[in-house]
Amino acid sequence: MQEFQGKSVYKGTAMGKVVVLKEPDSVIKRVRINDVQAEIERYERASKEAARQLGVLYEKACREVGEAGAAIFEVHQMMLEDEDYVDAIRNTIETESVNAEYAVAVTGDNFSETFASMDDDYMKARSADVKDISNRIIRILEGTKDADLSEAAVIMADDLSPSQTVQIDKDKILAIVTVHGSTNSHTAILARTMNIPALIGVPLDLGKISSGMTAIVDGSTGHVILEPTEEQCREAEQKIVWERRQASRLQELKGRPSITPDGRKVNVYANIGSVADIGYVLENDAEGIGLFRSEFLYLGREDFPAEEEQFQAYRQVLQMMADKKVIIRTLDIGADKKADYFHFQKEENPAMGYRAIRICLKQPEIFKTQLRALLRAAVYGNLSIMYPMIISVEEVQKITVIMEEVRQELEQAGIPFAVPEQGIMIETPAAVMISDELAQLVDFFSIGTNDLTQYTLAIDRQNEKLDDFYNPHHKAVLRMIEMAVDNAHKYGKWAGICGELGADLALTEEFIRMGLDELSVSPSMVLQVREKIITFAK
Ligand code: PEP
Ligand code: MG
Repeated sequence: MQEFQGKSVYKGTAMGKVVVLKEPDSVIKRVRINDVQAEIERYERASKEAARQLGVLYEKACREVGEAGAAIFEVHQMMLEDEDYVDAIRNTIETESVNAEYAVAVTGDNFSETFASMDDDYMKARSADVKDISNRIIRILEGTKDADLSEAAVIMADDLSPSQTVQIDKDKILAIVTVHGSTNSHTAILARTMNIPALIGVPLDLGKISSGMTAIVDGSTGHVILEPTEEQCREAEQKIVWERRQASRLQELKGRPSITPDGRKVNVYANIGSVADIGYVLENDAEGIGLFRSEFLYLGREDFPAEEEQFQAYRQVLQMMADKKVIIRTLDIGADKKADYFHFQKEENPAMGYRAIRICLKQPEIFKTQLRALLRAAVYGNLSIMYPMIISVEEVQKITVIMEEVRQELEQAGIPFAVPEQGIMIETPAAVMISDELAQLVDFFSIGTNDLTQYTLAIDRQNEKLDDFYNPHHKAVLRMIEMAVDNAHKYGKWAGICGELGADLALTEEFIRMGLDELSVSPSMVLQVREKIITFAK
């Protein structure tokens, strides 16, 4: 039995088998080898195994998402056998007498850079593919197995990126435990959405932990027990039963409106990252969706989602939510949310860099595709659109111009569409300070307290060392929220919070006093926030 202490990201107790997720070593060592022929044969065996794995993945994807969706694995198989690629790897092993891992890594990097520098968008996108197949061969050479997630398990990893997290089947996760990561990262947010106990900063030595061990995770205290005693298992089981009972008590609040005893309605909406999350929204009886982080449609894939694919996703969300409000935020990619095919350049300060609306205004073709899909989907439900990371009136004016172009294009093409309510996120101090002007241009404000705290306190929300300083209860943050709400109301607009602070039960009463019209929270927090509102004492 071993015990570890980390930081809580999301409450709840879990017990089950461990699956360790390992990434191939980020720095591949260059090792001189004597037997060149044996090394080439080692590479060839790994390449064969990679082809076999891709064949299995292709079959699985065909069954689950159809042939079109599975085609990427065929492309990978072809690249794996590409003559230039194979020759380059063999030559490197032969001429430099180096290990296969190194030869594959160097070749993969070279090919990937060549693809990335091409003009043709299709070829550009192949840059990520060649990296992917190279990583697969390296994993095989290193003996790193792909995680076996055939049964629900406690995931242990050094860190998880948002794109890794979205790729894991959510039904297969009992808990998430990472060595690194910050409580405000998007991976943490995903854990809350999925209602999964999650810990970060747990000092595990992953080299010594093997998949298949048993673990108990206490999401509230940040405690992890590996290979627990029978007594500890019994205690954990009791706790899990108790938690289930508490959750069913909250179930009684389903169907009740979120109204204070003195008659004030506060809409309690839910935040989601994918169409699949709607299950959690309905299960927890949210009154709408206050934030659909549409960028998750762009993550964990090889290329941009086409207009049609986006349209189908948005339409599905709207139809499943019937007439309830669905606020879809336009692409907020950048900072910690990255996709290779965007070809982001390395930045010193990515949180303050090329991201969100800045990308959309600089690359309007990406933005327009999304807006077209949104306007087309708007016909099918109660849609609102909101724009992230706004800092100026000029940005809102530029968005208005682009929106008008999209509207005219759809009209001329005779495609059915509707122009929905449009609002902005208030998540920069600049937006707060000019919120009186912004309120006159938009239909609503949704306050993104995660970024607003980051930019107000000058604290990188991704930096785990600063978690103790990241204080969203700071007076400066609370005053900013109040200022934005007052300015929205002054011009007859509504204001809500969609950052994590909206679910902070210690502040619900303060938010009601400030006059917030909406709180959009992780689905798992909806009923708890509703309970606070229903029992609000002035
Ligand atoms: C926020 O910043 O509060 C927010 C809701 O957006 P995200 O967490 O996706 O940056
Ligand atoms: Mg934000």
